[in-house]
Amino acid sequence: AENVDFESVRDDFPVLDQQVKDNPLVYLDNAASSQMPSCVADRIDAYHRNEHANVHRGIHTLSQKATDAYELARKKIRHFINAEHEDEIIYTTGTTDSINLVANSFGERFIEQGAEILVTEIEHHANIVPWQMIAERYGAKVQVVPVNDDGEIIWDEYVALLNENTAIVAVGHVSNALGTIHPVKKMIEAAHTQDIPVLVDGAQAVPHSPVDVQGLDADFYAFSSHKMCGPTGFGILYGKKKYLEEMPPYRGGGDMIDKVSFEETTYNISPHKFEAGTPPIAAGVGFAEAIDYLSNIGMQNIAHHEQELLEYGTEQLLSIDGLRVIGTSKKKASVISFVFDDIHATDVGTILDEQGIAIRTGHHCAQPTMRRFNVPATARASISFYNNREDIDRLVAGIKKAKSIFE
Ligand code: PMP
Repeated sequence: AENVDFESVRDDFPVLDQQVKDNPLVYLDNAASSQMPSCVADRIDAYHRNEHANVHRGIHTLSQKATDAYELARKKIRHFINAEHEDEIIYTTGTTDSINLVANSFGERFIEQGAEILVTEIEHHANIVPWQMIAERYGAKVQVVPVNDDGEIIWDEYVALLNENTAIVAVGHVSNALGTIHPVKKMIEAAHTQDIPVLVDGAQAVPHSPVDVQGLDADFYAFSSHKMCGPTGFGILYGKKKYLEEMPPYRGGGDMIDKVSFEETTYNISPHKFEAGTPPIAAGVGFAEAIDYLSNIGMQNIAHHEQELLEYGTEQLLSIDGLRVIGTSKKKASVISFVFDDIHATDVGTILDEQGIAIRTGHHCAQPTMRRFNVPATARASISFYNNREDIDRLVAGIKKAKSIFE
């Protein structure tokens, strides 16, 4: 798919074709959750209507059918992010769940008193709080890599913070609050010179560009289905086999065991060791369809199209008097975060909604990021491949209207 017709792609998303407050909907809240194409909704529907049964345990045909459909997702995801082994793909309920799994399980095995956990100053709360909880449990410390005024990590400070006590580096691939693309490949390389593993929070990266976990040499990579055309309640943790084998289970129950007795219980191998209980089967089946859908369009094509829109959008927004973009790195994906000194972000968002334009306002689950840039909140427009220049133009007109109301 070299020359994708991104205008006709919009027809795959019936949700876009609706009026909100008497205006055609403009959806620019994709960083929170992207929309679902018909093929994914249809796949989930067909699963529920014709294929549903519990997985991994039934001798009967329907259960095997459900298991096959659900396990097919693992193959597709392995291929999509270029993992070496299928059993390095762990199903979770989302990025938050994936990071909590690593924090708890890796933490139990590898984090001890005096250890350091390195995160950046602009992480999502999902990549801060689980580490703080684990640090408190084991007497470790969360260290923070500062960012410059553009929202990029300060390289020398990062390197200086890596030391023999560093148990793990946890970094967002793309910041959801600012859109900054962190130089994760380089960061991983630097950490590996001291044998320090790196977890990448890829929630905002996988939906917007090709990701190759082996190319990055990431030790863990986490992402969510609902930000990339799939349903909510499903996500992925990629982990290198050498770590997964060493890590204890995170939750106990059915499916994750080998043998259970009151004297001794032994565990299943990875990935099942980490997948206790009946999983979100329909969501996994739907996510497999979403992966196919995105692969058909081509992640490189998506990245290219979105970069063009991001540039156009940034240029147009900056032409508005008094608008300040927070996060001015040249290496960004999808997100334009902005503020006015004299209008609160919430008011901008409310006036935009009156015109059918959906953006997000607030701290974006990144309060330390807001603090770093001395703002209580930002308004955030986040782009997907089904957006177009008309959406950006409507956004600009909408913001100008908000300005005229509040000035
Ligand atoms: N990390 C980042 C960078 C995110 O953008 C998000 C979602 N806003 C998360 C983690 C958490 O993802 P989820 O809510 O799907 O678990």
